[in-house]
Amino acid sequence: MKKILHFFEQIETTDNQKSFEAFTRCKGNILLGAKKDLPNIIGTLILIVILIMLYLIFIFPAALDYQYNTLAIIIAIFCILPILTFLNVTMTEPGVLLRGDLPDPKLQQQQQLIQELEQTSLSNQNILEEQIQRNGQNQILLITESQNQMEQNIELPSIYKVRYCSTCKIMRPSKASHCKFCDHCVDGFDHHCFWVGNCIGIRNQRAFLLFLQSSLIVIILTLCQCSLNLYNQYFDIQELWLLMFKQASIPIIAIYGLYFFCGCWAQQSYLNVIILMFMFILPIIYSAILINIEEAYKNYRYYDNPFITILITIIVLICFCFLLQVNILNCYYISLGKTVKQVKSEDQFYLNKQSIIKPKQSVSKVFRNLWHFYTYPIPISRNK
Ligand SMILES: [Zn+2]
Ligand SMILES: [Zn+2]
Repeated sequence: MKKILHFFEQIETTDNQKSFEAFTRCKGNILLGAKKDLPNIIGTLILIVILIMLYLIFIFPAALDYQYNTLAIIIAIFCILPILTFLNVTMTEPGVLLRGDLPDPKLQQQQQLIQELEQTSLSNQNILEEQIQRNGQNQILLITESQNQMEQNIELPSIYKVRYCSTCKIMRPSKASHCKFCDHCVDGFDHHCFWVGNCIGIRNQRAFLLFLQSSLIVIILTLCQCSLNLYNQYFDIQELWLLMFKQASIPIIAIYGLYFFCGCWAQQSYLNVIILMFMFILPIIYSAILINIEEAYKNYRYYDNPFITILITIIVLICFCFLLQVNILNCYYISLGKTVKQVKSEDQFYLNKQSIIKPKQSVSKVFRNLWHFYTYPIPISRNK
């Protein structure tokens, strides 16, 4: 253990430029997510801005017309929150662990044994040879003193063990993990988020949750405003919906239903983006056709047209479905006091060791975990 602590003290002073290679740097200090993810960051930002513009152009003026001034202005002010929190997640260094030059303890151990073998007299040679053979046969991982103790005395899921990272050449602490996408180890690693273009780790996990939650609040408020506008524009909303979906209802409902059930599973994949794009494009084409067919709606002012309001309501509803499931999933993990990586590692551990029973979560523990999540002090970045 002393060796490890000493090692960490040592690398704090070495050149750490290489550890932060994956990031976009600005004036040496500010980080704007991963270099590879820059198009994603710009894409997400454009998506947020488009949604805000849709609200300001088509919903806001109508809301003022119908005397919903307070709600409309509150939403317009709140719209800035998703942008601010998004930039906060993207620009916060997630808690990268500095690269080192610690040789692989496993290899070192074997080399040491070979050296000892060469140095000792012939009489001792046979005993040591046996020792090496036994090591190879049983594949015992005699790494460092601390790791040895950890692995043999305490049964732990692998994420909680002090492990050697062969890429970063460090002994990474408990709860840390290597981000394959950015190629560095992150303290308290949760996952790499392609939407915000950054790893989610100990330093920006709270900011990430605040981004998701503030976006959901704005979307819910906008959805309320859309419904109120629709109520004023067209009293028989049911009839309007029926008119809207009378031709292409089955494919649209099928795609939305599919997305709602598969969304969780496809959360971090490009399939998710493709389905989302489909969901945006379909109602736009459909309502564009309808607006032209229905003579009665041609003479409305641009923001008064119930078809435009219903189109925006659908777009907002898609965002709501997406944000709701992502929020529920992440809130569930933080109520457990764990990251996605930890939950996965624990699941694997309890699956393999069926003799060990998984401890149950009490209600008080859930509140304590939530409180801790929103109040824990964020550690200082190693990027200095
Ligand atoms: Zn690593
Ligand atoms: Zn990453």
